[in-house]
Amino acid sequence: MNRKKIWLASPHMGGNEMKYVQEAYDTNWVAPLGANVNGFEEDLMRCTKSAGAAALTTGTSAIHLALIMLGVKSGDEVLTSSFTFSASANPITYQCATPIFIDSEKASWNMSPELLEEAIQERIAKGKTPKAIVLVHLYGMPAQIDRILEIANKYDIPLIEDAAESLGSRFKGKALGTYGKMGILSFNGNKIITTSGGGAMISNDVKFIEKARFLATQARDNAPHYQHSEIGYNYRMSNIVAGIGRGQMEVLPLRIEKKREIFKFYKELFADIPEVTLLEEPNEDYFSNYWLTSITINSKDKDREGLRLALEADNIEARPLWKPMHLQPVFADCPAYTDGTSEELFNNGLCMPSDSNMNDEDMARITKVVRAYFKG
Ligand SMILES: *Cc1c(COP(=O)(O)O)cnc(C)c1O
Repeated sequence: MNRKKIWLASPHMGGNEMKYVQEAYDTNWVAPLGANVNGFEEDLMRCTKSAGAAALTTGTSAIHLALIMLGVKSGDEVLTSSFTFSASANPITYQCATPIFIDSEKASWNMSPELLEEAIQERIAKGKTPKAIVLVHLYGMPAQIDRILEIANKYDIPLIEDAAESLGSRFKGKALGTYGKMGILSFNGNKIITTSGGGAMISNDVKFIEKARFLATQARDNAPHYQHSEIGYNYRMSNIVAGIGRGQMEVLPLRIEKKREIFKFYKELFADIPEVTLLEEPNEDYFSNYWLTSITINSKDKDREGLRLALEADNIEARPLWKPMHLQPVFADCPAYTDGTSEELFNNGLCMPSDSNMNDEDMARITKVVRAYFKG
């Protein structure tokens, strides 16, 4: 096959990344600290209107630190979305705590407030108040954050927002990641912006941010020698990587614009294909970065695997939606509050190629394959 590969999402540099990386070289700040780390954190704070940001090695490490700071430890229970990437749940197990999985609602595909409250009441009745909630905003789409926050407050359970896929998304005009005690972001290779690999924690409580920086640099006490009274981690973002981040932040608005155009392209493409439903903003409160345009297929003779293979045959990458955590072998023993929603999404859903590098020619190729598949 000699057709150019169309990716689900690929790194998309803006142009100034090398300038910031070069500055780090020129000033010899090839270190896990420096002007780019500070500058990138300021960019993130400005973009999300949060009081503090800590640049870290990964989104996963950001979730881990958030759980540590909320005191999650062995034997505790932490509620989290079942419909997500494993990185939302893995750090719960790093603390030897148990993830409790909550199914999705149908409008945003994110955590169901009803099932969340049911789970909280049942866990409390069984004798354990959950220690935290890790709420995921998937594919850039805001969860029903106002309702979830209300429940979290009612039972006095701290909320962590996993906004790894949702930088630039907002609910009622407020950036995702700034509703809970802490929000986490990821800059992995296929996210809306990338630093090759990287993550961050944002918060309006600067005490959390300062503590995260402390824990992320091996928990060194204030002393001329190396003095430690707590277990530390090596989770700080490097100054080179942060240079890429600064360049990427300059083009984030452009990337969101393009992702929203891609969503519109699919909306038109599927307009006369009634078997297909798109994940879209339920109402004006929601603003999605549309990181990946996602669909479900409801048909007797067409399915997501058929469409995926048809695209693959033309060297176009599409991917099934996340397989829910409560269906993953590794989490088989964890309690789960489910009603079949995320399982159905997984069975029928597909992430369409949503690469901001795509051009009109690429979209024409996708159009052709999709039309042929549904007409065939
Ligand atoms: C990517 C991702 C993460 C983890 O981020 P990394 O930077 O890859 O560690 C966490 N949660 C979700 C929902 C993600 O998509």
